[in-house]
Amino acid sequence: LWEKIIKILKYQIDEVEFNTYIKPLNVHEYKDNTLYVWVESTFMKEKVEQRYKLNMMEIINDILMMEASQRINIIFELKQAAEEKFENYISVMDTQKKLINNLNQRYRFENFVVGKGNELANAACIAISQNPGIVYNPLLIYGGSGLGKTHLMHAVGNAILDKDPNKKVLYCTSENFNNEFINSLRAGQFANVQNFRDKFRTLDVLLIDDIQFFEKVFGQGTGSVEEEFFHTFNTLQELGKQIIMSSDRLPREIRNLSKRIESRFDSGLSVDVQKPDYETRLAILKNIADSKSVIISDEVLEFISSSISSNIRELEGALTRVIARSTLLRKAITLQLVQEDLADLLKKQQSKITANKIITTVSGYYSIPLDEMKGKKRQQEITNARQIAMFLLKDQLDLNLTTIGGLFGGRDHSTVISSIRKIETRMKEEIVFKKEIDNIKQKIVE
Ligand code: ADP
Ligand code: MG
Repeated sequence: LWEKIIKILKYQIDEVEFNTYIKPLNVHEYKDNTLYVWVESTFMKEKVEQRYKLNMMEIINDILMMEASQRINIIFELKQAAEEKFENYISVMDTQKKLINNLNQRYRFENFVVGKGNELANAACIAISQNPGIVYNPLLIYGGSGLGKTHLMHAVGNAILDKDPNKKVLYCTSENFNNEFINSLRAGQFANVQNFRDKFRTLDVLLIDDIQFFEKVFGQGTGSVEEEFFHTFNTLQELGKQIIMSSDRLPREIRNLSKRIESRFDSGLSVDVQKPDYETRLAILKNIADSKSVIISDEVLEFISSSISSNIRELEGALTRVIARSTLLRKAITLQLVQEDLADLLKKQQSKITANKIITTVSGYYSIPLDEMKGKKRQQEITNARQIAMFLLKDQLDLNLTTIGGLFGGRDHSTVISSIRKIETRMKEEIVFKKEIDNIKQKIVE
C-alpha cells in the first residue's frame, strides 16, 4: 500500500520536493487502520503533515475504494534514533527558500501602465530590478494612495526572482515589521528575536511598504522597533542588499522619525508617483478590459476615465463594478448603464468633502484635538493647523469668510483672510509645505 501511495505522489509533486520530503519517510507499523510513518526530524514532520498528509490520505482512500472499504489514518512519528541530520536540514532549508515568496504574482512591469505621473518611479524600479543593491539604494517611492506604489514594489521583486529564483525577496508593510518584531519579543525568548533578525538581515531584497505607519510606533516607549529597523536597514545596506520603501509622504513629513533614521531614508533616491493624466487612465482601463477579455466601447472607457481621476484603485474598482453588473444582469455595457452605475459613486465622491471632514483631517494630521482647533490658544502648532484648515475650507469648498470664521468660534473675517493669505504665501515659497498641503488634500478625499 505504502509503495503505491509513494508512486502516485511521485507523479503529483515536484521532484525536488519528493526527494526532500517523501523519500526519507519510512512506514514502520500498520495497525487499527492507522499507518505509522517515521520521519527524521521535527522540522520534516511539520512540513509533511502540513503539505502532504491530506493528499496521502486521499490517495489511500482512492486506492482502498477499489481494494477494501476502510478509512485509513496516517500518523507521523519522530524516529527516536534518528538524529537530525544537519546536511539534510540544510537541503530542506534550501528548497524552502525557493518555494517561499510572498509576492503578488499579478503585479508586474508588463501590466504597469507608464505615464507622466509614474515614469520616473517606473524607470528607477526597472533599473533596480536589473541591478539590485547597486543602483539607487534605498529607493523611496512616495505619493498618494492608489497610485501604484505597492504594484511597483512587487514588480521589482517578481522581476528579480524571474531572473534568479534563489534571491531572497521579502515584501512586508511597516506594520507587519512592527508586529512581527513585537511578537518576537513577547514570546520572551532570545531565540525568537534571533529568528526575526535572521529573517530580515539575510535578505537580498527588502520591500517595505507604507513606512508612514512608523510614525505611530517610533519614538515611543523604549523605541525598540525603531532601533531594530535602524539596524536592519544598516545591515542590509552595508551588505549591498536592496531596500525599497514606500510612503504616502516624504520622510521629513513623517512625524517621530529621529534624525538618523530620516537621513537614512533620504540617503538613496526618492521618486514620487502622481495622479495619472487622462491618457494614462484610459490606457489602464484598456489594459484591464483586455486582461479580462471583455470588449468595452471607447465611449464607455472614456467616460470612466474622465469621471475618476484621483486614484487608480478607484478607477479599477469602477470598471470592475461595471463589468460585474453587466455580467450579472446580462446587460450590454452601454454608456447609459455605466452612467447610471457610476452616478452613485460619483455623487459620493463629490459630497465626500465636507467642512467637518476638512477640519477633522487637519486635526488628525497634526494631532491637534478638535476643541483646540476651534478654541483660542495661540501656540504655534495650533495656530498653524487652524490656518491650514481655514485655507482648505476656502480652497476646497469655497465657503465665505464669515462662515469659516463661524466654524472657529466666531473669528472675524479679517482674521480668516489673513490666515488664508499666510498659507497661500507659504505654499508659494516652501515646496515642502506645499507638498504637505497636497497630502492633506489627498487625505480629505480618501
Ligand atoms: P498604492 O500602493 O500606491 O496605494 P497600488 O500599487 O496598490 O497603490 O495600486 C492600486 C491598484 O491600481 C492596484 O491594483 C494596481 O495594480 C493598480 N495600478 C496602479 N498603478 C497602475 C498602473 N500604472 N498601471 C496599471 N495598474 C496600476
Ligand atoms: Mg500600497
